[in-house]
Amino acid sequence: MKQCSKCGEVKPLEAFGKRKASKDGLRSECRKCKAHAADTYREANREQERERAKAWYEGNREQHATSMKTWREANRPRRNALIRAYKAGLATATPMWLSKEQRDAIAAIYAEADRLTSETGIPHHVDHIIPLKGSGVCGLHVPWNLRAIPAAENLSKSNRLILD
Ligand SMILES: [Zn+2]
Repeated sequence: MKQCSKCGEVKPLEAFGKRKASKDGLRSECRKCKAHAADTYREANREQERERAKAWYEGNREQHATSMKTWREANRPRRNALIRAYKAGLATATPMWLSKEQRDAIAAIYAEADRLTSETGIPHHVDHIIPLKGSGVCGLHVPWNLRAIPAAENLSKSNRLILD
């Protein structure tokens, strides 16, 4: 038997992990305490990742907005035409044969984008994996061609398509 340095409980030796450097070859804390510490570490790490992503977005928001504004003003006529085409394309790209379940699935993807936006603080949009008006390809407004991604990624993708 051995006493755990964390919880103070006296437990059988099997309850302790191995550690060569120790005098008795075992860790000072029991497996349960060790597992708990790992969970806490993972949880803290995840939180940190999220904070980092948020901080990056906050730090770059202004620059991003400025470059978007410049781009928009330079491309206004083209952009207006694009918006018209996109709206029309969206309507014709939605197949008549979509079932109610599939239409609900589309709505769920939009809801997912909203959920990600409020949970991460980073704006998310619904992206067409295959663009509706690509060169040579034409994607559909169907559930399996949609995904929720951060808005910045979506915008840079459409910029690329337009500027190519
Ligand atoms: Zn313990």
